[in-house]
Amino acid sequence: MIDKIKQLEKISRQLEPIAEERLKLRETVIDYSESFINDIEKSKAYNITTDKGSQLLDYPIKETGLSIEKIIELLRFNVDRPGLNPASGGHIAYVPGGGIYPSSLGDFLADITNRYSGVFYANPGAVRIENILIRWLCDIFGFPSEASGNLTSGGSIANLIAIVAARDHKKLSAKNFHKLVIYSTSQAHHCTRKSIKISGLYETIQKDVPMDDHFRMDTVVLTELISNDLKNGLIPFMVIASAGTTDTGAIDPLKEIAIICKSYDLWFHIDAAYGGFFILSELVKEKLNGIELADSVVIDPHKGLFLPYGSGAVLIRNAKWLYDSQHMQANYMQDTFDDIDELSPADLSPELTKPFRGLRMWLPLQLFGLAPFRAALSEKIWLCRYFYREIQKIDGFEVGPYPELSIMTYRYMPKTGNADEYNLDLIKRVKEEGSVFLSSTTIDGSVYLRLAVLSFRTHLSTINKCLEILRELTK
Ligand SMILES: *Cc1c(COP(=O)(O)O)cnc(C)c1O
Repeated sequence: MIDKIKQLEKISRQLEPIAEERLKLRETVIDYSESFINDIEKSKAYNITTDKGSQLLDYPIKETGLSIEKIIELLRFNVDRPGLNPASGGHIAYVPGGGIYPSSLGDFLADITNRYSGVFYANPGAVRIENILIRWLCDIFGFPSEASGNLTSGGSIANLIAIVAARDHKKLSAKNFHKLVIYSTSQAHHCTRKSIKISGLYETIQKDVPMDDHFRMDTVVLTELISNDLKNGLIPFMVIASAGTTDTGAIDPLKEIAIICKSYDLWFHIDAAYGGFFILSELVKEKLNGIELADSVVIDPHKGLFLPYGSGAVLIRNAKWLYDSQHMQANYMQDTFDDIDELSPADLSPELTKPFRGLRMWLPLQLFGLAPFRAALSEKIWLCRYFYREIQKIDGFEVGPYPELSIMTYRYMPKTGNADEYNLDLIKRVKEEGSVFLSSTTIDGSVYLRLAVLSFRTHLSTINKCLEILRELTK
């Protein structure tokens, strides 16, 4: 038996490369990441290829491994070449993400040390870091001291946790689900609707409140809808507002909605996944007034805090509401019960074992301080305003509303032919050119192009390049 174990150990020890091997692995990976960053300005924001990474299919998982050089080569050619390059500053479509360098080092350390950040008992320090970050977020959004939240993998899961907390806090009975009313606008992110479905609330009545000409919820109509629904025996339950819609960056009138929610006892949820972090910019922070009155808020550090993908956050007005919604006990967890100086993420989210997400956020915040984050956010606002001004100087372009934040809509009006088809084709031609990546949307039946500035790598030169491309392609 001993022989057998030793024989297996010899092979299993391959899982722990020795220092020399680690150095080689690390150097190969670092060399590649360095060339990736050094070349980023020259790299395309979108790369159309015919293969679409299909070479990967020729490399199934086998009993024996490949060299690190081969693996990096496969990644470079099949993953980092075709399609969208979200790390490029030229990504000014959808809602761009981030990828600041120190976050990757935070992930590296979190993975090497493999700290268990689910429960306080297992790693008090890691849990404190996550709780400090949640507290910091609560503070910047003006949430009370009893508030808490959770660092999630993204905005979609954060929205789901908030909607489930609302459902549980309001002690709703399944037999009434068909009478519940949830109010939002047609501009709300589709993941809120998905959350309603996943949380079992798909039988509820979901009403799109009309909007003003800036795509903001009309609160006069909201009040009318609620009072009519009450008269008709329905149960108004929740308002989902947006603080920065995906299409146009519109911010619903948060303060007014808060007052309405309070007077009718509705849960007030704000999806600020895109717009939330603009509260750090002196330029626009007032626009988010009223966010402090929400019952739940969602923000996405992998958008407005420029972290790599995999970082969302949900804040809930009262930690108890979240705890009651998510906490579950098990006998095999009994050793952890007494050590409760701090709330544990595992009691505030569906996750038990989870990555130590806090480190990728805490490390860059500690390293840089807040100033560069604030500057980057204000810079993005100005870049969008600049584009708004400059695009109108190019013959044939018209713009949507003045940008609230860093997203705006515009389109080219051809002298002849169908404008929608022209703009869809224009997007395609921009994609073929590749140095910037734009996306389109349909608003009130018309195709619009969008500009969404939120990558930390998007600067004045990027926007000028984008203007130049649009000028050339519409000549
Ligand atoms: C991005 C976004 C979401 C979804 O968040 P993910 O992090 O992509 O899951 C939800 N709402 C808004 C307004 C967003 O911009």
